[in-house]
Amino acid sequence: MSENVYTLFVSRFPADRRAPFLEIPEGRGYSYADLDTESARYARFLAGLGLVPGDRVMVQVEKSPQALFFYLACLRAGFIYVPLNTAYRQAEIEYFLDDATPRFVLCDPVQLDMIRAAATARGVAHVHALAADGRGTLTEAAARAAPDFGVAPVAADDTAVILYTSGTTGRPKGAMITHRNLAANGLVLSRAWGFRPDDVLLHALPTFHIHGLFVACHCVLLSGGKMIFMPKFDAAEVIRHLPRATVFMGVPTYYTRLLALPDFGAEACRNMRLFTCGSAPLLPQTFEEFRARTGHTILERYGMTETGMNTSNPLDGARRAGTVGPALPGVTLRVVDIAGREVASGEVGELQVKGDNVFRGYWCQPDKTREEFTADGFFRTGDLARRDADGYVAIVGRAKDLIITGGLNVYPKEIESYLDKLDGIAESAVIGLPHPDFGEAVTAVVVRQPGRDDVDEQTILAALKGAIAGFKVPKRVFFAPDLPRNTMGKVQKNILRERYTAETR
Ligand code: AMP
Repeated sequence: MSENVYTLFVSRFPADRRAPFLEIPEGRGYSYADLDTESARYARFLAGLGLVPGDRVMVQVEKSPQALFFYLACLRAGFIYVPLNTAYRQAEIEYFLDDATPRFVLCDPVQLDMIRAAATARGVAHVHALAADGRGTLTEAAARAAPDFGVAPVAADDTAVILYTSGTTGRPKGAMITHRNLAANGLVLSRAWGFRPDDVLLHALPTFHIHGLFVACHCVLLSGGKMIFMPKFDAAEVIRHLPRATVFMGVPTYYTRLLALPDFGAEACRNMRLFTCGSAPLLPQTFEEFRARTGHTILERYGMTETGMNTSNPLDGARRAGTVGPALPGVTLRVVDIAGREVASGEVGELQVKGDNVFRGYWCQPDKTREEFTADGFFRTGDLARRDADGYVAIVGRAKDLIITGGLNVYPKEIESYLDKLDGIAESAVIGLPHPDFGEAVTAVVVRQPGRDDVDEQTILAALKGAIAGFKVPKRVFFAPDLPRNTMGKVQKNILRERYTAETR
């Protein structure tokens, strides 16, 4: 039995391959037979250029059906797929070229000249382009290849994908994700979330990240359902297509943007069975408002590039706001203190994880890999968490965002939750800034609700002073029109720290 994850996908395809796989708004649809043919054609084309299993194929393109088929081609041929965020520009791309040393590069036609020059200078012989509409030199060149490729016999622990971490500190690291990792996590999720052949997933996420590429696409591939494949998230477009969908996966900002539209409600969700959320914390207010408006309870889950999904609120059973649910089957979790000892339930510590979902290490960085794993094989997530007696996990923040002020620990999320409840505040981010006396000073960055310019630093501080311990009360409050977020909706606290360190100097 082949250990290639593509073989597993094929074993789950509908018996009748003419069944729909992708529906494209305002475009032609694609069946499972198309998926198989097109990925075979790309695989044959790449193999014809002399690529062999283990070679890296770097891809920075807009989301499209062809880009998805190209990903599946790399899996079935055993080439290592290396997707890049479409926001990356020249300096970043040069770094990834040097780090991943690909044999083939696929990019958007708009970037072709720049990327070809950078790649050629590094000895990469093959650079092609693919546009969002499916056109480009790849399409022309691959059209001549025969769609007669089988599946390459890789080992379960061979790397399938190198996914660069978002790298909010230091340079991005390439997480080596194996065929076993993809198979294990895909199967666990499709079961846990009850995926069925008649499911229709409304896909609005980008496909260069674990959430849109693995979590969403693999659940569908493993259950023979179909996707409405949107080029990007657009709240009005989502509402237009939702009535034909049964499942939607989003990051928190997708949900707040949907709720911002007055015509969004139960009617648009009439055929839906599941809304999931992850990649960044979902505010309890959003969770509650979504339930009130639609009658649906968002299922929040937690994972990361290096580990795939680790925990999930249940499909059947209590989905608790502010928690990411218990460990998924096959995932072992523990919460430890600085000395590596497990803490009691309810206490905060670092979350560590072990299981077939956990990656094999960082590409070309054995020292970094060793540092991030414990002697007994657990991966240090760098996330601070609390686990209740019944196993539900709450993510408290990133360990590196923990503020130590006058020797005392302050968890930004706790302060943010107090701030967000205050009248006139839309959202907030709490960071630690260097302070001569305290080491770090608790600092709040606040976004006011529209028209609430009356909310000022004094009112906020006065409200907090009576409510929480003095050392947790921010030393300063700054106001901003919005919070800097990356494409997955994560607040970029490194940017805030830089901005306000400069301002307080
Ligand atoms: P990435 O590797 O880009 O997927 O980022 C993973 C990180 O996102 C995790 O280590 C967490 O810090 C954060 N994250 C993902 N899902 C959640 C969630 N549901 N709640 C809070 N943080 C999350």
